[in-house]
Amino acid sequence: MSDAQEFDVAIIGGGIAGPAMACALAPTGWRVLLVERSAEPLDTARGDHLQPKTCEWLAEWGVLDDMWALGAEKRLGARYLTPDGEVVLHVPVEQLDIPHRYFLYLNHELISQALLTAAARNPHFSVWRPASARPLEIADGFGLTAEHAGEVKPVRAALVVAADGRTSRFRRAAGISADTYAYRNPMLTMFAPRTLDDPRNEVRAYFSPAGVISVVPRTGGGWKIGLPVPPAELARWKQATPEELGRQLEQWLPELAGVRPEVSGVYPITRMNAARWAERNLVLLGDACNTLHPGRSQGMNVAMRAVHRLVQLLVANDAIASPAALRDVLAAYEAEVKPPMDARLADNHERGLEMDRLDPEETAQMRARLAAVAADAELHRRYCVAAAGY
Ligand SMILES: Cc1cc2nc3c(=O)[nH]c(=O)nc-3n(C[C@H](O)[C@H](O)[C@H](O)COP(=O)(O)OP(=O)(O)OC[C@H]3O[C@@H](n4cnc5c(N)ncnc54)[C@H](O)[C@@H]3O)c2cc1C
Repeated sequence: MSDAQEFDVAIIGGGIAGPAMACALAPTGWRVLLVERSAEPLDTARGDHLQPKTCEWLAEWGVLDDMWALGAEKRLGARYLTPDGEVVLHVPVEQLDIPHRYFLYLNHELISQALLTAAARNPHFSVWRPASARPLEIADGFGLTAEHAGEVKPVRAALVVAADGRTSRFRRAAGISADTYAYRNPMLTMFAPRTLDDPRNEVRAYFSPAGVISVVPRTGGGWKIGLPVPPAELARWKQATPEELGRQLEQWLPELAGVRPEVSGVYPITRMNAARWAERNLVLLGDACNTLHPGRSQGMNVAMRAVHRLVQLLVANDAIASPAALRDVLAAYEAEVKPPMDARLADNHERGLEMDRLDPEETAQMRARLAAVAADAELHRRYCVAAAGY
């Protein structure tokens, strides 16, 4: 590693967690490198909703305006509905006593772009893209090599951040085991022009005969419709025309009469929770650390929660100044943030299982549980607060 390029922080992964880390680090002026394998972001149907609490961190990182500039919009809550559109539970957030009384939504790849734009305000920020990183074990921790612009470049960094997604090569190299659970039914997503007016841009989650179907606003007036589909039925869904897809949805959800969607993606769903978060100078972040069932729209939000606290601790303790200080900070970070995150993951998994089993009785129980929340003012208030990320 004598010819290695030196950085304070090397981040592997330019999805959401990696750019969020680079963005939060921008004010430090540290030498930050981000390595991303793909030339362009490929995915536009994944996470696109950020909670009100997350917006506080985006504002603190100075990236909120970049998101508005790229077309981000506000939604004011969510509705859980019967197939006929009767409201079981309404979850508004604009009445809460919080700084940002809305969810922000923006296409997945544009969230990543906004974070990278803000990260680039650090004059010592570099992006190598496309570049594939490989972990390199060195005497005092981990470095990496990155294949970039036809060259294999060795990199040494005080801190290595593995934000390389669920199957993280860096997590495996660090010998960190993970508890995984593969849900039975992949999530199918479709894009469609909206057929219902809603100036509040709320998410509509229907308790349908085919399980929970979510209808989520996209920027520019569209919808993303998501539902779990049994593997044996996937081919039929993927080959269906917009008219056929629309007729199937209308049959289950009369409110969606006239909708004409197109399939935008199929996502096999796995829950993953890493046993540890750090190993010497390496720390896991985002889906590389924990992957959630997407039914609750949490993945990016929990990643940004982790980034916020990690960067606070790194900066407050000048952790990149010495390997010992860094190890102490990573240990303190994990001790503080992992237990509540584990609880969040466990709750998310329980809800994910309910959604995955596609059992009509269980769907009816979910609906009854939410109706009970709607009927109790204090439970309802707490539900809204939790939905906002507090
Ligand atoms: C259908 C769906 C809907 C969702 N909706 C929401 C939502 O509304 N709100 C929410 O908060 N979350 C949502 N999520 C979850 C959210 O999308 C993920 O949690 C989030 O995108 C994870 O980001 P990440 O950066 O950790 O991982 P990824 O986005 O997977 O990024 C990892 C990156 O690392 C790169 N990489 C991997 N290996 C290497 C290597 N060796 N060298 C260089 N680069 C490498 C990859 O190319 C990739 O770009 C949803 C997920 C799905 C599937």
